[in-house]
Amino acid sequence: MTDLHPLLQKLQAKLAVSPLTKINDPELADRQLELWIKRDDLLHPIISGNKWRKLKYILNQALHNGTDSIVSMGGAYSNHLHALAFTGKALGLKTIGYIRGERPAQLNATLHDLLDWGMELRFVSRSDYRQLRDYKGHDSLPELQAGQYWLPEGGATDLALQGVAELIDEIDVGFDTLVVACGTGTTLAGLLTSPLTQQAIGAAALKGGDFLIDDVEQLLNNQGIISHADRRILVDYHFGGFAKTTPALLAFMQDFQRQHGIELEPIYTGKLLFALYDLIRKGYFPAGQRIVAIHTGGLQGKRK
Ligand SMILES: *Cc1c(COP(=O)(O)O)cnc(C)c1O
Repeated sequence: MTDLHPLLQKLQAKLAVSPLTKINDPELADRQLELWIKRDDLLHPIISGNKWRKLKYILNQALHNGTDSIVSMGGAYSNHLHALAFTGKALGLKTIGYIRGERPAQLNATLHDLLDWGMELRFVSRSDYRQLRDYKGHDSLPELQAGQYWLPEGGATDLALQGVAELIDEIDVGFDTLVVACGTGTTLAGLLTSPLTQQAIGAAALKGGDFLIDDVEQLLNNQGIISHADRRILVDYHFGGFAKTTPALLAFMQDFQRQHGIELEPIYTGKLLFALYDLIRKGYFPAGQRIVAIHTGGLQGKRK
């Protein structure tokens, strides 16, 4: 493994070790379950939790390659582009973001930030956007110029797994089950690369999430990693689709936030905690289990 580039070391020094918070809830105590939350939402005031984990070794490769700009893609509220634009600026890398859909008359808070941090925005039609998903390798985008590095949607590449696995080493209690929200499944795959992971459950944030099982296996295979961990992806907690919500989801989130003082967002972490509590109430987890849920951050996406 190549060393961490000095610029990344400098940036990493500004990140906290995210806390691990125990949830005190009589409902859990009654069932003799423990729930802890790994607060990657508190890693950094701006950089969203799992997006930093995923970007770390990708950016390292890019810096070691002498890259001058990173080209990537995302929606208008993308946590990935938000983290990329900020870290790119901190590392002196130019960033270019392909944004799904037409340029809105009024830019939202995410897009404003991207521009403030110097990201060049290229708005593309939904069909062109879908086509961009075909390019997987960092030099695979046809129009790429010398010095440019292509990063697929969500930072979903093999190099992302290693950074995610580091999160596990920070969990200083023994645990039985990890739970995490899934978009591309890369974060879940990263968790599965750790030998400490015995059981992991992902909750798909989008409709039709069955493909995630294969994608996660593919990411592990590409790294030659054999994980014996028991894994399962929940595909029925999408609440109508990506970024869709229901009154029941929003009410659950409000309750959780009020009771535990931990903010959630409706796209990933709200759905994850809803799914987890639903499994708990259905008796899915045997008494005595300690569950660790990963708070992957993403709170910036709640802004208008
Ligand atoms: C992107 C994102 C995810 C999904 O991560 P994947 O690695 O794509 O599965 C989960 N939670 C939050 C808050 C995210 O921003």
